[in-house]
Amino acid sequence: MASLSAAISHSCSHVALAHSTKPKKIYHSQCRTLPLPHRSFICRMSFVSRWNSRDTSNARVFASVKEGILLDESVEKVKLPIGDTWSVHKFGGTCVGSSERIKNVGDVILSDDSERKLVIVSAMSKVTDMMYDLINRAQLRDESYISALDAVLDKHRSTALELLNGDELGNFLSELHHDINNLKAMLRAIYIAGHATESFTDFVVGHGELWSAQMLSAVVRKNGIDCKWMDTREVLIVNPTSTNQVDPDYLESEKRLERWYSHNPAQIIIATGFIASTPQNIPTTLKRDGSDFSAAIMGALFRARQVTIWTDVDGVYSADPRKVSEAVILKTLSYQEAWEMSYFGANVLHPRTIIPVMQYNIPIIIRNIFNLSAPGTKICHPLVDDKEDNRPLESLVKGFATIDNVALINVEGTGMAGVPGTAHAIFGAVKDVGANVIMISQASSEHSVCFAVPDKEVKAVAEALKSRFRQALDAGRLSQVAIVPNCSILAAVGQKMASTPGVSATLFNALAKANINVRAIAQGCSEFNITVVVKREDCIKALRAVHSRFYLSRTTIAVGIIGPGLIGSTLLEQLKDQAAVLKEEFNIDLRVMGITGSRTMLLSESGVDLSGWRELQKEKGEVADLQKFVQHVHGNHFIPNTVLVDCTADSVIASHYYDWLRRGIHVITPNKKANSGPLDQYLKLRALQRQSYTHYFYEATVGAGLPIISTLRGLLETGDKILRIEGIFSGTLSYIFNNFVGKRAFSEVVTEAKQAGFTEPDPRDDLSGTDVARKVIILARESGLRLELSGIPVESLVPEPLRASASAEEFMQQLPHFDQEMSKKLQDAEDAGEVLRYVGVVDVVNQKGVVELQRYKKDHPFAQLSGSDNIIAFTTTRYKNQPLIVRGPGAGAQVTAGGIFSDILRLASYLGAPS
Ligand code: ADP
Ligand code: ASP
Ligand code: MG
Repeated sequence: MASLSAAISHSCSHVALAHSTKPKKIYHSQCRTLPLPHRSFICRMSFVSRWNSRDTSNARVFASVKEGILLDESVEKVKLPIGDTWSVHKFGGTCVGSSERIKNVGDVILSDDSERKLVIVSAMSKVTDMMYDLINRAQLRDESYISALDAVLDKHRSTALELLNGDELGNFLSELHHDINNLKAMLRAIYIAGHATESFTDFVVGHGELWSAQMLSAVVRKNGIDCKWMDTREVLIVNPTSTNQVDPDYLESEKRLERWYSHNPAQIIIATGFIASTPQNIPTTLKRDGSDFSAAIMGALFRARQVTIWTDVDGVYSADPRKVSEAVILKTLSYQEAWEMSYFGANVLHPRTIIPVMQYNIPIIIRNIFNLSAPGTKICHPLVDDKEDNRPLESLVKGFATIDNVALINVEGTGMAGVPGTAHAIFGAVKDVGANVIMISQASSEHSVCFAVPDKEVKAVAEALKSRFRQALDAGRLSQVAIVPNCSILAAVGQKMASTPGVSATLFNALAKANINVRAIAQGCSEFNITVVVKREDCIKALRAVHSRFYLSRTTIAVGIIGPGLIGSTLLEQLKDQAAVLKEEFNIDLRVMGITGSRTMLLSESGVDLSGWRELQKEKGEVADLQKFVQHVHGNHFIPNTVLVDCTADSVIASHYYDWLRRGIHVITPNKKANSGPLDQYLKLRALQRQSYTHYFYEATVGAGLPIISTLRGLLETGDKILRIEGIFSGTLSYIFNNFVGKRAFSEVVTEAKQAGFTEPDPRDDLSGTDVARKVIILARESGLRLELSGIPVESLVPEPLRASASAEEFMQQLPHFDQEMSKKLQDAEDAGEVLRYVGVVDVVNQKGVVELQRYKKDHPFAQLSGSDNIIAFTTTRYKNQPLIVRGPGAGAQVTAGGIFSDILRLASYLGAPS
């Protein structure tokens, strides 16, 4: 004990010594003129109020407050010109995080052409944390507080060396060293005591602001401009409250401000944020992140024109941009909306910033110091024409914010109903343990009261409640005091949203769609917010789900591409080229969330950059896993719709369509396997599609990009009756027979087609006719026929003996041996003035399909084809004498991908895209 007090008195004398030897002219002269009792007062208070002696002659002010008015009378008073000549700026920690940034802040201040400027500055970024850390270490009797303090010194010394020179540098460094010495002594005392009082702590942690304000003011002065710095503890007087907050004493602060200004008139004042004094002149703070509050109070005291809060984001986002990458900047917010957003966790603004400025109608502008071109967010009273009449639901919800780490407490029991004073007893018990109730919800049956408190307080609260209600619990009047730990609060904020029909339904619908269970609900009667409690692990998902529901275009679609082969990659290319136009002109936002091949897949959280997807796949690709892929693309709840585009020809992939559609995933494909596969599965798939609002489009399965399925559907839906569909469905076979003329050998034309890339690698895949048969089946089923692939006669052009040839090469070698048969058919046709064409036919009248080589007169439309064109003739009751003909290129990656793309756009229009 003896050594403890000795150490403290040693520390004291050290502080006092450091203090009294400080080379401050005014202070010394002041001290000398003061009567002895006052000097001893200052020395006694030197731990906590050395700030009285700063070089702005403030010691005099305080001396006069304490000791009389003699000194005040000796100075000619300059009246404080309050009003809108003042503009207030507040710079957050990141704005002044380095010498470069402080310089930049200086430029921003100078570029404001307001007549008078008050600047509130935070500590350099991380410094306040460092200061709290010093206290912690010292309290824990950890010697490392010394080296940690050295780091604080180094940070500021090196910043000052980079920024200042001459007297300014000398003055600042001597202040800094002086402060550090004091802090060292103080921390030593804390180390010895193993405890820091609140005022000791507040005194220590506020130094970051003292240093940044002094450096910034010196930087502004370097430009030859009159600029004073203000230790706000001399002006701002606050009263502590029982809730770890402080309340400004405006009257007293105003008096002190007038007095301060009368001694320090200046056009530019750089003031410390965060710190203040109690009415007893004990240093205190406005608590963490309190500089915004400082700026608002000062703005109110000066009746400033506006308060600009400079930070590191472009303004207030519709949700925390770290959690929702889709968040958008809000142009304006009402004071109430801003308050609700900040209360519920949007830490871009301290919640208490609003009230001081609101009473004088002073707007707050939130701006980004790193992006001066962004106009920021303006917080003010709602504009007159910003009424809610006729506004869409979406714009009534401004933003979303969350508070993590809360727990719910549910006090339940039939004995609560109609018993006056129950709520009083519950919240009385909560108050007794000093816990902060974040939200309350009571069912109207009065059967239960449920409220949220910070996780760390829940245990104490529950125990207090159990003990307070022991008797009621024992008697069964209360059934339980239950805790639901690990929760988060999600608040939707917007003027009048809660009173507008439909908004909360939309909100809860979005949560339900994302499969999120809501634990509790509260709606402020203020109508500014709806608050829900969800499991903590669901919080981000919930936030994204509701945000996307209100903010994303309804036609934002998460796209998963399966099979980035020739067609898939061409589609990706087309999507890339068209994405911006679609978004800007049609409000269709397509996000490729994943691309999977058979071996590797590429997943993205917000959309693959399509200009470099191949490189990304190489760098970041992972082993393909279809289930994981689908889960990723669909499970991404910030996008309201999902479509999987199957660009493979794989029947295994096709077998998943049913399950995907059932889960609400739209499917688009050129893959023929599902629609030409087993009939029962096809019927099941189509039945499901008809029942649900989930879409399945497959235009590119027939005729690539040609409008064949859609033409057929259009005819059927408008009541036409299909009699027959006949066509050349294979681009390859179209090419072959368009060129198989005169004396040419069939094998020669096949070789030519193969070399031109018109055939499959093994031309037998085309010549066998199976592909055409699949198209016939698809059209037949679409027309209402219940046919199986195996039920269609297909005339194969692969000579019987070559069907089992080992390789494509061997087949091509052997093919000339069979030319004669084909030449004969050609000759016969030509002799009759006809041409050969390989066609598929759906004979709806006789419920049959067939694929065969047919002869057509030379003036028939099928005889007029060139290249690899497809042609399809629909004979219907309306188009009986003259069939409806669709003709055009029906093969190739570009047109097939184009067909898929147009299905995607059709989906978007079904989902509500503008036409
Ligand atoms: P400063 O140090 O400038 O006071 P803060 O870190 O206190 O800055 O506040 C800015 C940060 O608030 C942003 O960097 C952002 O990550 C976070 N933030 C949380 N919610 C929001 C929101 N809705 N809008 C903007 N920023 C938000
Ligand atoms: N520097 C203080 C803090 O970090 C106050 C502020 O920056 O708003 O809490
Ligand atoms: Mg802040």
